[in-house]
Amino acid sequence: RIAAVDGDATAGVHAFLHVDAEGALATARESDERRAAGNPLHPLDGVPIAVKDVVVTEGMPTTAGSKILEGWVPPYDATVVRRIKAAGLPILGKTNMDEFAMGSSTEHSAYGPTRNPWDQTRIPGGSGGGSAAAVAAYEAPLAIGTDTGGSIRQPGAVTGTVGVKPTYGAVSRYGLIALANSLDQAGPVTRTVLDAALLQELIGGHDPLDSTSVDQELPSLVDAARQGASGDLSGVRIGVVTEMSGEGWQPGVMARFQESVDLLVKAGAEVVEVSCPTFVHALATYYLILPAECSSNLAKFDAMRYGLRVVPEGNPSAEDVMKATRDAGFGDEVKRRIILGTYALSSGYYDAYYGQAQKVRTLISRDFEAAFDKVDVLVSPTAPTTAFELGEKLDDPLAMYLNDLATIPANLAGVPGISVPAGLADEDGLPVGFQVLAPALADDRCYRVGAALE
Ligand code: GLN
Repeated sequence: RIAAVDGDATAGVHAFLHVDAEGALATARESDERRAAGNPLHPLDGVPIAVKDVVVTEGMPTTAGSKILEGWVPPYDATVVRRIKAAGLPILGKTNMDEFAMGSSTEHSAYGPTRNPWDQTRIPGGSGGGSAAAVAAYEAPLAIGTDTGGSIRQPGAVTGTVGVKPTYGAVSRYGLIALANSLDQAGPVTRTVLDAALLQELIGGHDPLDSTSVDQELPSLVDAARQGASGDLSGVRIGVVTEMSGEGWQPGVMARFQESVDLLVKAGAEVVEVSCPTFVHALATYYLILPAECSSNLAKFDAMRYGLRVVPEGNPSAEDVMKATRDAGFGDEVKRRIILGTYALSSGYYDAYYGQAQKVRTLISRDFEAAFDKVDVLVSPTAPTTAFELGEKLDDPLAMYLNDLATIPANLAGVPGISVPAGLADEDGLPVGFQVLAPALADDRCYRVGAALE
């Protein structure tokens, strides 16, 4: 299937940056042998999976969508990958993404864009467009993504797949190439809510290698998905977030969203409207905190330790080499955020920008807490529009950033979220996503409500 539809940077879905057919087949054979021998198997043993290229994989190239890591082969596995391998899932390869996970369209990949399988003139969302497109195009039944501001959920929405951002700390970040450490979270990209539950249970759980890993069992996600699939939501209180819809939201997106809300009511849920006034500041807050963290994280790409090294002519100093390498190795969006972050963290501005943003972040968490006093889950459309045209927002960073309006608050507060398919918009026939947000560590509620919509 990958050979038939994936193509390359110039045509086709281009979900993959690296395919390991032989490795995947070898693992699949081992799975067959285990099955033949009658050994107890993990439910996902032998089910192939694609992994976003920001997650390190031993012996398999890992670029994070950047030229600066071209050719780098990590010497170790991320915890997520270690658990996938231990359960016997063949890893098909690494999926395309916006460079260092910065973007909402996968057009910022240094290796060419991924195209939306529903309409190849459209974006597959981002930054994890490769993982979502691979699942949507039947190139992989399961994939891993990472979500710092929506990069699992928004690609899920625009490709008609299921995407989950777990509670911050519920899935280990060990071996994720960090974008913003306080926001990043790995999670499942799948075709069904039950598949996502199985996958999160596999990759999640405490990890001593990640100091922010939560040392607490979550309620069973598989049970929650099964319970939701039975279609009974009686007793569940659902809040529609006032600030996550309205002017500028595509009518076809709002229509499918409203239909899904009606379905939840039919299933017995009680639905009320809930206002979270600080959410309108989430985007501004995020675009101070994220650049601050990523400008610091990206300092390690110094031409000495990893990947690319560009040596200018003459008798260059170490600083000359570093400058030339970072100039050639980073794309425009990455440079933009390094400049924003360095500015926000500089001594005269630290309090005014980074310090203020941290305070607003606390207010956003408090809005979530107040809302979850009244309701069990919050819902919204995952993204304001369906998949836009390739190139449409590439020269307008702000328009690109605005696409994440509904997904970013969850990352700032560390709460879990799922995006499930809600049908196709009337005006363009493209997939719409329905988002369910729950309190920290109550990921099971996302699965229960999400499964009720399938
Ligand atoms: N689109 C957002 C950004 O550009 C989110 C990215 C992400 O979740 N990795 O930062």
